[in-house]
Amino acid sequence: MKSNNEYYSGFEIGPIRPPSEAQSLLLRITRNCPWNKCRFCSLYKNESFSVRPIEHVLCDISTLKRFIDELDQAEKLFLSEKRAVMQKLYEQDHLACQSAEMWRMNGKKSVFLQDANSMVIKADDMVTILNALRENFPDIERITTYARSHTIARIRDEDLKRIADAGLNRIHIGMESACDKILDLVEKGVDKKIHITAGKKIKKTNIELSEYFMPGLGGNEYWRENAIDTADALNQINPDFIRIRTLAVPDSSLLSEDYKKGTFSRVNDERAVEELLLFVNELKGIDSTIKSDHILNLIPEFEGKLPEDKPKMIGVLEWFLNLDQSERNIFKIGRRTGIMNSIRHLDIDSKRMRVIELINSNHIANDNIDTVVEELMKNFI
Ligand code: SF4
Repeated sequence: MKSNNEYYSGFEIGPIRPPSEAQSLLLRITRNCPWNKCRFCSLYKNESFSVRPIEHVLCDISTLKRFIDELDQAEKLFLSEKRAVMQKLYEQDHLACQSAEMWRMNGKKSVFLQDANSMVIKADDMVTILNALRENFPDIERITTYARSHTIARIRDEDLKRIADAGLNRIHIGMESACDKILDLVEKGVDKKIHITAGKKIKKTNIELSEYFMPGLGGNEYWRENAIDTADALNQINPDFIRIRTLAVPDSSLLSEDYKKGTFSRVNDERAVEELLLFVNELKGIDSTIKSDHILNLIPEFEGKLPEDKPKMIGVLEWFLNLDQSERNIFKIGRRTGIMNSIRHLDIDSKRMRVIELINSNHIANDNIDTVVEELMKNFI
């Protein structure tokens, strides 16, 4: 099939999805990021943005439907015959086959539309894709996508309502910060006002809104502003979810160059936790759920529903800040090496011993732990 001078070359999958979409079908409707300038992000740096022709996306959906029907039928066959069906589908389109099988296993309940900002496509096309998904897979409970505030702010209310009515249930927005100075420095391409306009616009529909906050993005210079201004914007929006995504600086990012030149100073774990403490204290009058669903975040237990869980969330941050330095070091290394994934693990002897061995054998001390942690965090990007 040929469309817009581009031939259909099979099912496509983009590079990322939110952690909460681990069970979802990944359906790629655009490739890469149309903005692609944020200094902390290297995900799509050498890739150019394109919109996949809608016929190609619809072809992905129909292939998937056919594969899933065949796989369902194959369940009634002997194992060797089932394997033959799998092999045949794999040879026809291996990504579609893998996606169909994985999604079947996960119950076919949710879909994530890739890549970074698929809300840039025409509203009519988005509605067509959503309708095709719902018609082919009536059991879908949730369809979600990433979007930039800048894009959402420009969508007409009536178009957003049509998209919501067609079944888009959740939009994930990388707010990162609502401090204008920081947004400017990291070239996010939006300001606080646009973030608020976009967030409020989504909240007027029945689409759930997930906003991401990035502690550390203001560095040591603007950590307070990052916490206070972002909390203020979120207080005005009242998103359904606030997701914490602590800054990590990939070597290939422009922010890494700023760091090497000395024009950006990175906060250490203690400062990032102080920033979160200030942030959560500033969140007022909203009922968002805070999620800490990423390995980059130091304290996984910093989660809960506002306002009732606020004291508990403050408590886990204070727990860390009140540890003595050697205990904080053990937890920091334990967490960043994947040995500890709960604050309770600091009390488990076997885990403590493994971390202490690592600290000793790698000569990690108070004066080099921040550098070690920075390096370890790059593994999680
Ligand atoms: S908008 Fe998102 S994907 Fe695009 S450059 Fe910025 S952070 Fe990266």
